[in-house]
Amino acid sequence: MSMTIPQTGRPPVSFEFFPPNTPVGAEKLKTVVQDLSVLNPHYFSVTYGAGGSTREKTLATVSGIAALGFEAAPHLSCVGSTRESIAEILATYRAQNIRRVVALRGDLPSGTATAGEFRYAAELVRFIRETQGPDWQIEVAAYPEYHPQQRYAARDLQHFADKMAAGASGAITQFFFNADAYFHFVDEARKLGVTAPIVPGIMPFHNYARIAQFAARDGIDIPRWVALKMEGFMDDSASIRAFGLDVIGQLCERLIAGGVPGIHFYTLNQSALTLELCKRLSLGAQA
Ligand code: FAD
Repeated sequence: MSMTIPQTGRPPVSFEFFPPNTPVGAEKLKTVVQDLSVLNPHYFSVTYGAGGSTREKTLATVSGIAALGFEAAPHLSCVGSTRESIAEILATYRAQNIRRVVALRGDLPSGTATAGEFRYAAELVRFIRETQGPDWQIEVAAYPEYHPQQRYAARDLQHFADKMAAGASGAITQFFFNADAYFHFVDEARKLGVTAPIVPGIMPFHNYARIAQFAARDGIDIPRWVALKMEGFMDDSASIRAFGLDVIGQLCERLIAGGVPGIHFYTLNQSALTLELCKRLSLGAQA
């Protein structure tokens, strides 16, 4: 029989999924949840499609995780939504004993009408806090390399601080590859009075081309030496995997040495790389 031994002095981990689109994907995710659950994560979070497009699937995925006995946190985006529809979703979660949510503005697909009663995530945070009370754990998004739609870093930071002051309990960052950007962002946020935990979001290199696309879209810097090496591997997946694990492992080591309050992994619904990283870093409960 294997025993799980909690590692002391290491930050807790959480894992992010997207709601699967097919029954096969849903079955596969159950296995991924079981695989990752041996690490005793703080919680599993599930994304929410722009404009509520995955409303039912996010709910079903979160309920499935909760039914397996684990803490689940639905993401909820507000742009294009009414107060009534958000209140309805929150009531559904409350009825399922879910008290943790990742509150976001979201992005409406271009060409979609933007009529809605929320403009920014801070308004959603305030609404959740006012309607659900103090016992909810409300996480929000943070951007160590700044939000791509904000030209001025200082403004983005101030908006982030305002969002925290609206009642957020903590933040999870966008993924990044520069530890200095994260540490600087945290220092700047502290100067603006943010005291809550800011947990780094880590994206393992599941698939270099895909991650590079996300990074280009979201204004995230992939260091040139990493990009050139990755591109040079072409379709040599073993080298991509080995190098990617080293790069992300070293990034996490620096973050852990700097005292991060947790690590949130973007799993893309796969367990292998995240498990390997947690093993190398002695994160979570290790068998
Ligand atoms: P906000 O905090 O509202 O900020 C958005 C922009 O508005 C920023 O540029 C900010 O500087 C600016 N701003 C804020 N307040 C003001 C103000 N008062 N006046 C002027 N400008 C202002 N998207 C999804 O659709 N579904 C998900 O499940 C999802 N999960 C995510 C999880 C994490 C951890 C992260 C980091 C992002 C996630 N996203 C998700 C993406 C997110 O929705 C987008 O990045 C979106 O563009 C911004 O959302 P936000 O909550 O950060 O917005």
